[in-house]
Amino acid sequence: MKEKQFDQFEAIELYCPKCKAAFPVRKSLLLVLPDGERYDYRCVRCGTPVGTKTEKKENRVLIVTE
Ligand SMILES: [Zn+2]
Repeated sequence: MKEKQFDQFEAIELYCPKCKAAFPVRKSLLLVLPDGERYDYRCVRCGTPVGTKTEKKENRVLIVTE
């Protein structure tokens, strides 16, 4: 039920190496590319960047965790 708090964000959890667990992430626009937009995912608990996502205009989505 706690996930309900994050309805304004995308309900995505990624593994955070600092917290050593999967936590919901906050999505923020990092940069606008000619063919899409790159988003940064940060752990809501400690703020560590845990991944990036590139949303391409042709609806191809790529998630890369670091
Ligand atoms: Zn964390």
